[in-house]
This record gives sequence, structure tokens and C-alpha cells, in this order.
Amino acid sequence: MKRVLITGAAGFLGSHLCDKFMAEGYRVVGMDNLITGDLKNIEHLFEEEHFEFYHHDVTKFVHVPGQVDYILHFASPASPIDYLKIPIQTLKVGSLGTHNLLGLAKEKGARILIASTSEVYGDPLVHPQSEEYYGNVNTIGPRGVYDEAKRFQESITMAYHRFHGLETRIARIFNTYGPRMRLNDGRVIPAFIGQALRGEDLTVFGDGQQTRSFCYVDDQVNGLYKLLLSDYAYPVNIGNPDEITILDFAEEIIKLTGTQQKVIFKELPKDDPLQRQPNIDKAREILGWEPKVSRSEGMRKTFEYFKGLSKEELFKSEHKDFTKHNRV
Ligand code: UDP
Repeated sequence: MKRVLITGAAGFLGSHLCDKFMAEGYRVVGMDNLITGDLKNIEHLFEEEHFEFYHHDVTKFVHVPGQVDYILHFASPASPIDYLKIPIQTLKVGSLGTHNLLGLAKEKGARILIASTSEVYGDPLVHPQSEEYYGNVNTIGPRGVYDEAKRFQESITMAYHRFHGLETRIARIFNTYGPRMRLNDGRVIPAFIGQALRGEDLTVFGDGQQTRSFCYVDDQVNGLYKLLLSDYAYPVNIGNPDEITILDFAEEIIKLTGTQQKVIFKELPKDDPLQRQPNIDKAREILGWEPKVSRSEGMRKTFEYFKGLSKEELFKSEHKDFTKHNRV
């Protein structure tokens, strides 16, 4: 049996990756420091014989005894609100954390896939974004801590590939949604659904004409799995090209949830990208992959998940105290 280490295992994407690799017959080692992750996302795996969990911060030296065949580095805060609350952790996990995991991969002779992001394109001046576009990032803006950590992550990963001959894979992940997103992480989908379920107005930032292209998590995980098992070391966009303005999306959520509330407009956050849509030609050609789940189907499943949360969870504001994690 192959053994895979998944960092950020208790998070949204990490937990779905754990499920995927368990289902494909791997031994899975999950790792998470639980700053933004939540054990409830992987609680169902603890009784499995082939699942282990390490409560560890990957910005510190990472030791995993025994065989490791694959590493997937998915530990990172991943919402603009989190970057503001834990900017230093965000920088460290993408830079120092990646360095530690590349070192572990080299030591174990493992192949490593790192979770990069459409944020490397910044507020893109080219549309849709293909892998050849170098991006338009504000290094010192509020998103800079995430964007630059992820850009550094790509650089150091390619350096390990070129200099040490390490087997590396780089996924540029576009907006992805589904069950287990954190209700209060500030991202637009849990924000809108949470507001609808609590009977609050939906907060559209700016005039709502900015666009995003949302990928359902099952599609995302299948794309990541194929990329890991491919032989392609350069970045590959994984996302759904179906683009929509945030205002139109708010109207879709109003219909889906049946809420009586309306849209209200709030200030647009600094450096919020105006448009985002992946060009997925490479994923189609190299991986034979494309998304299969429509937004209406994916959103129905996602709404079911959030409807299942307790009243207490729904009305609880963010319970995590992030401040202590910012010590350097
Ligand atoms: N957004 C919004 N209302 C909210 C939360 C987000 O209008 O309550 C907007 C946000 O300004 C951005 C888009 O929705 O243009 C997607 O935001 P998200 O934080 O989900 O992801 P990202 O900006 O990283 O794509």
C-alpha cells in the first residue's frame, strides 16, 4: 500500500483529500495544527485502520517515521479574513512549511504536490488566466501575505525539482466550494448561505460586478488526484471556468435558499480581484480532466450541508482565538 501525507488534513480541501485517498486504498497520514482546521471534518476517519493523525505545525521541523510515497501540502489559511487575522502564520506555512515538506520529500524519496492558487495571478490583467500569465500582485497589500507566500512556494518547489531532481507537482487552485467550508471564514459562499439561514441580508461587496468561477469540491479533488499521478511538474490550473458576477451569484443564492432577505452593498475590500476565470486547457490535455458538477447541483449539496448545522453553530461567531498564533 502507498502511504500519503496530507497537511491541512482537518481543513476543507485537506479533509476531502483524506477521504479520496482512503477510498482509493492508500494509507493516509493527516497533519494539521488546527488553527483554521477542525477535527470534526475528519472525525469519521479515526476509526479507520489505515488513517493516522499528527497534531503538528509544519512550520516547525516535520518528522514522519516510516515510508512516505506522496505528500500533499494543503496547510494554509485560505480566506481574505484569515490573512488579516493571521498574516504571519499565513506567510510561514507557505514558505517555511513548504521548505520543511520539500526536505521531508527529499529524505523519503516521495513525490510532493503543493497547493498553489489563482491568487498568484493577483488582480489579473489577462482574462481568462492561463498558466503562462505571470500575475499582477500587490506585495504589500492585505492579500500579499498569502499571494507572495504561494508564489515563493512555487519558486522553491521548482528549485527542489531542478536542483535536487525531486518529483514535484503544482496545482493552481481556483475558488472551490462544498461541504465543510468554515461557516465564518468570510468567504462568499458560506457568508451568503449563513446569512440566508440566519435571516440576514446578503452582503455584496462593491457593486457586485466582480466575477468568480466556482468549482465543486469533488471535481477539484479528482483533478488534484490526477495531477499527483501525472508526470507533469509545471503549474496546472484546477478550477471550473463557469464564471459569474457576485451580484448574480447572490441572486442565485436567494432563489436556492428561498430567503425573504435582500442584497445590501458593502465596501469592496482592498485588492479584491475584479475578475477571475481559469483557462483549463492544460488540465484537459495533460490530465484528461474537466469539472463535471454544475453550480446548481454543487450549490444544492452545499446548502444541504449548511442546513444540517445546529442553531448554535449557525449563530456562533468565529470561536477561534487566532491572536496567539501570530508570535514569530
Ligand atoms: N464577497 C461578497 N460578500 C461577502 C464575502 C465576499 O461580496 O460577504 C465577494 C468578495 O469581495 C469577492 C468574492 O465575493 O469579490 C469572493 O470572495 P471570497 O472571499 O470567497 O474569495 P476570493 O476573493 O479569494 O476569491
